[in-house]
This record gives sequence, C-alpha cells and structure tokens, in this order.
Amino acid sequence: MASFSRALRPLSRTTLSARLASKRLATYRPVQSAYAFSTTPRRRDVDLSDLTPTPITLMSETETMMADTVSKFAQEQIGPKVRDMDEAEAMDPTVVEQLFEQGIMGIEIPEEFGGAGMNFTAAIVAIEELARVDPSVSVMVDVHNTLVNTAIMKYGDAQSHRTWLPKLSTGTVGSFCLSEPASGSDAFALQSKAEKIADGYKLNGSKMWITNAQEAGLYLVFANLDPSKGYRGITAFIVERDTPGFSIAKKEHKLGIRASSTCVLNFDDVVIPKSNLLGQEGQGYKYAIQILNEGRIGIAAQMTGLALGAWENAARYVWNDRKQFGQLIGEFQGMQHQIAQAYTEIAAARALVYNAARKKEAGQDFVQDAAMAKLYASQVAGRVAGSAVEWMGGMGFVREGIAEKMFRDSKIGAIYEGTSNIQLQTIAKLLQKQYTN
Ligand SMILES: Cc1cc2nc3c(=O)[nH]c(=O)nc-3n(C[C@H](O)[C@H](O)[C@H](O)COP(=O)(O)OP(=O)(O)OC[C@H]3O[C@@H](n4cnc5c(N)ncnc54)[C@H](O)[C@@H]3O)c2cc1C
Repeated sequence: MASFSRALRPLSRTTLSARLASKRLATYRPVQSAYAFSTTPRRRDVDLSDLTPTPITLMSETETMMADTVSKFAQEQIGPKVRDMDEAEAMDPTVVEQLFEQGIMGIEIPEEFGGAGMNFTAAIVAIEELARVDPSVSVMVDVHNTLVNTAIMKYGDAQSHRTWLPKLSTGTVGSFCLSEPASGSDAFALQSKAEKIADGYKLNGSKMWITNAQEAGLYLVFANLDPSKGYRGITAFIVERDTPGFSIAKKEHKLGIRASSTCVLNFDDVVIPKSNLLGQEGQGYKYAIQILNEGRIGIAAQMTGLALGAWENAARYVWNDRKQFGQLIGEFQGMQHQIAQAYTEIAAARALVYNAARKKEAGQDFVQDAAMAKLYASQVAGRVAGSAVEWMGGMGFVREGIAEKMFRDSKIGAIYEGTSNIQLQTIAKLLQKQYTN
C-alpha cells in the first residue's frame, strides 16, 4: 500500500506526455489470481503461473508516474479552484485545457493518435488521484477516457480511429449519451430513434443527465435504428456538437459534483454521415453493456479517491489543528477508532477496485468484480465522507473547506453507471449462475 499512503512527492515540471515520450509504458505483468477473492468464472484463461504474487495495489513504474504527476497537478492546479467551481456550478475552462495538456484525456489512446498509450490501470490511477482533490474533474476524465475513448478504440474501424482519436486526445471532450427521461436503470428501453437516409442517418430524441455535455465536442449517442427488434435495434452513433438539430436543452443543478455539467440534450432531425456510425448497426446494446462494465471500475476509483481525500482532510484537522479539553481531538480514543475503521474500509474498497482493473487487463472475467468494487466503494465513500464532516464538527459543516462538498459529491456513486441496486442485481445473478446445480 506504499502509494496509497505516501506523502505527495515533488515532481518535475514536465507534463505526463513529455515524460512518457522518454519513458514508454512498461510491459504490464498481470497479478496472479490468488489475490482475487472473487469467484467469478474466467472467460479467458491467461497463464499467470510463472508470476510471483505481488500486492494488488503495487503499481508499475508508469502507473506510479501517473499517480505522482496527476496528484501534483490536482493539488497545485485544481485544488485552489475547487470551491469556486463548485459554487459557480461550472468547470473552469483552463482546467479542461490543462487536462489535455497533461495527457490525461488520452490515457489509453495509442501514441500514433496523440494519446499517452498507457494501460487501463493507469487511467484508474488518474481518476482516483483527481477525485482525491475534486470528484467533478475526476468524472470528466472518467467518462471521457473509460467510456468514450474506450468505445471508439474498441468498436471503431481504422477510419474512425484516424478521425476521432486524435481529437479526443488533444482537445475535444467526449460525452456518453445513453440515459433518457424514461430510461435510466432500464437503459435499453430508450426511445431515441435513428433512421437510415441517403448517405447517413437521421437522429431524433432526447437524452438526460449527460455528463460533460456542456464542455463536449463529441457525443456518443445510442438510438434505436429498428424498434421492431427491441433492444437489438440499438445502435451507437457519433454526433459532433455543431451538427444542426443538436442542442443542449437544460443544464441540471445538482446536490454534488456541481462543477461537472449534467444536461438534457435534444436531437431534432440531426443528420450525420454514414461514417459516424460506431461499429455495426444493432450492436449498440452490447457495446453499452461492455463499456459500462469497464466504466464502473472508473466510478469505483472515483469513489475511493473521494473517500481518501475526505479522510485525509479530516485527519489533518483532528491531528494538527483542533484541540478540545486540552488535547488534539484526534487523540481521543473514540475518534481514533473511527478514523482507523474508515481508513481500513478505504483500503478494502481500493483492493476491490485494483483487483477488478487487474483482472480486466489480464483478460479475465471482471464483471462481478467491477460491480462489487463500484457498490462497495460508493458505500465507503458515503460513510467516510459523512464521518469526516462529523469529525470536523462545525468546520466540517461550513462551506469553507472540502468536507461538506466531498459528502455531497459522494452520493452520486450509488446512482450513475448503474445504481447500487443494479450492481447488487448483477452480483446476485452471477453468483446464482455459479451456485445453481
Ligand atoms: C450526475 C449524473 C450524471 C450522469 N451522467 C450520465 C451520462 O453521462 N450518461 C448517461 O447515459 N447517463 C448518465 N446519468 C444517468 C444515470 O446513469 C441514471 O440516473 C442511473 O442509471 C439511474 O437511472 P434513473 O435516474 O432513471 O433511476 P431509476 O432507474 O428510476 O431508479 C430509481 C431507483 O429505483 C431502483 N431500481 C430501478 N430498477 C430496479 C430494479 N430492477 N431492481 C431494484 N431496484 C431498482 C434504483 O436502484 C433506484 O434506487 C447520470 C446521472 C446523474 C445523476
């Protein structure tokens, strides 16, 4: 757990991209499955027998570099803006520019398309480190990398890669548009329609609660091309922001992650060329399921980062600043036990997150692990962020520091990319399959 509790180390001034230019991604060696307590059956066997078991949270050199670079960037550049962005309910545009400059918006995109060419766990590390400072910035990076970039890398053809990946890694924010007013948990009941026309498609419908919508230039939109086939008609399309008929209908005001934009989008006779079809017609539901399974590990990482940020903020206060009854409040045993319990829960959640990420990278079945990681990490984030407010007393409740913000932000972990009930359903379904004779 060295990197988990490490003091933030001073870093060079060079950006992640520049540092990576001289030191490319070290070959990732998957961790032996002995560490995986999940009994999810394997989809693909990978021979890990010759590897020495290592702790799940042990990072490769590249991942450590990512953690250090993003941690420094978040502390120095984002930290001073967190409160203002939350109050303004808006992302500072310079933060978005800096995310691109730092190479954090194309983490897994191959270098030939302007990305950092790193692995999935490196993206998870970045999401976690950002959330430690601001979960709003973290979710922007999460949706862009783990949903949009991944979808295009995985399902796009060579032409799509050449067209979209350089934009996504250098300056165009991506948005993932699945949910609609009448379809949230029941995502594939979506009503948006696509129609085939000469040389392309015409889209009509509305999307709801879309993250990054305000800042995005590219929208990955799921619409039904053949409703007679039910969910098997769902198809994925790419819509650019300036396409006639596309509009942002409303920006939501929220309880938490307020600097992250969440919008209603309208598509009124939006005509897109054939080349904006992602992958194959009728495969959209499969793409959405697969991408969200991976994306959930990202949200879980956002929640562990948030929990750690809330915990650290409160720990510093109780162990350095606040005295009552003649001693630091963190020296009371009643406080110490709660603080230790919370840290232990964060470490447990983090083990689930990194185990899921490593299993995904090893080509193993990780669906149950991702669901367990998201479920548990969001529960821990809620508990720890809530306790942190209490440990700081009145100082935790006022809108000066980050304690009350982290508490508000923590609530979203149980809602997006599948609510907690939906994660439980996934876990139970897979367990039942395994334990049914
Ligand atoms: C801030 C924010 C950002 C978001 N970003 C995006 C985005 O970028 N892209 C996108 O496509 N969507 C996004 N969403 C939408 C999000 O994914 C949905 O809100 C989520 O899937 C839940 O859907 P719902 O809100 O319709 O809730 P509902 O589905 O109406 O659920 C309400 C309650 O009913 C429970 N429930 C529903 N079905 C079942 C069941 N079968 N069994 C047990 N309980 C059940 C749920 O667990 C929940 O507690 C975002 C939402 C928010 C709030």
